[in-house]
Amino acid sequence: MTSSATSAAANGITRKNLQTTALLHRTPWVPPVATGGEGIYVTLEDGRKVLDAVGGAAVACIGASSAHVKQAIKEQLDRLPYVYSMQLSNEPAEKLAKILTAGENNAFELVAFVSGGSEAMEGAIKLAKQYYEEIGQPQRKNFISRQLSYHGNTVSTLALAYHPARRAPYEAILDHDNFHHVSPAFAKRFQRSDETEKQYVLRLQKELDDKFLALGPDTVIGFCAETVGGATTGACPAPKGYFKAMKEVCDKHGALLILDEVMTGIGRMGTLHAWESYGDGVAPDIQAVAKGLSAGYAPIGAVLMSKKIVDGIRGKSGFWKHGHTYQSHPLACAAAVAVQEVIESENLLENCRDQGAYLAKLLNERLRGPNALAAPYTFDIRGGGLLWGIEFDFDSPNARKVDLKGKAFAMEVQARALENNLIIMGMVGGANLEGNKGDHLLLSPAYNITKEEVEKLVDILVESIEQVLKESF
Ligand code: PLP
Repeated sequence: MTSSATSAAANGITRKNLQTTALLHRTPWVPPVATGGEGIYVTLEDGRKVLDAVGGAAVACIGASSAHVKQAIKEQLDRLPYVYSMQLSNEPAEKLAKILTAGENNAFELVAFVSGGSEAMEGAIKLAKQYYEEIGQPQRKNFISRQLSYHGNTVSTLALAYHPARRAPYEAILDHDNFHHVSPAFAKRFQRSDETEKQYVLRLQKELDDKFLALGPDTVIGFCAETVGGATTGACPAPKGYFKAMKEVCDKHGALLILDEVMTGIGRMGTLHAWESYGDGVAPDIQAVAKGLSAGYAPIGAVLMSKKIVDGIRGKSGFWKHGHTYQSHPLACAAAVAVQEVIESENLLENCRDQGAYLAKLLNERLRGPNALAAPYTFDIRGGGLLWGIEFDFDSPNARKVDLKGKAFAMEVQARALENNLIIMGMVGGANLEGNKGDHLLLSPAYNITKEEVEKLVDILVESIEQVLKESF
């Protein structure tokens, strides 16, 4: 038995009782148990050190070893573990809010902290509705979002988004009256061969405008989108000019632009906010962030509010009619402040851009180059910063046939990669509404990944893909 397995057993955790626990919690199988972490590596119960190329779920953006963050959490724990934010604020929450609203051209005036991404998006929905109640437009009740989107796993955020698989069991209880959907921004799949990128964007803009008109423009609260597609379309950036075009429609009808940057914000795209990576200055009225905010050192999410929203509410009730018990949790806020300090002091946004570009170059060379075994099946490599998706397609008539025996390629590669000491995320059925296309892999390593680690990541990834392919010929 390895030492980590011994310590798990010493803690009373055995495979047998874990089996029961896992069934009760969620999965019908027991995933490997993680027992430690160092840098971007995770140690498993069998003693293996695996390179985490997705940072959990695009969360662990500075790795597991930050002494600065650990110290900040310990100090806050000693000083004050908890206060109820409806009665008392706390120092790290105030400091974190200042960090997120700092800077001359900052788009946001106030911030509210919650415990994760779904809560942040629920908060965004409620804040937007409250805004229109308070400025005297209570008839506004409709949200428009996009097919192939993900905004969280609560009932309202499932209704807001359109993740076919995650919605499926709950369709009957989702609100179909107030949540509406338009096409995703996914040029590789849905831009027609007879249209330019600009024409594609204009088509999407018209579709959104038509949806406003059909619902009654003065009944719409806002258009909500992931700034870069994540859990459904796999790291899919919007086409050039898309958000400018969508914002024009929102402005024309007096509605809000709400961006979900739970996965893509706080540096993931190489800029603090993902919308900054498009370089067109289109900022939202309300924005949700989570994952990278505390890098996984503690659960936290945030709702960022523009001046327009704050002014609307400040002039009336003066407070956001929303709250959770763990809102502005001092330990989570202390962790997040320290994470932001690490990102700043170690210049990690720059590293994110540099290593992201290097990762993309290697992926293109090794998966699409002239001698790449995977080239005939690599449909798309897309993303930015340190969020990259690799989509596969097995329909090409010119490619050697593979027989996957009914299994999803991406999931087979994910399993093989883990055997080869690499954690990646396989996803299936994201690319169309029928869910029968879109086998893809997601990569979102920590912002402090080194060049050597990028090379190792790509080596193991390509090896895993090729192993699965060779076994399927
Ligand atoms: N919104 C987006 C874009 C996400 O990617 C996610 C999670 O992956 C969520 C919301 C939900 O966040 P959480 O899982 O923290 O509730």
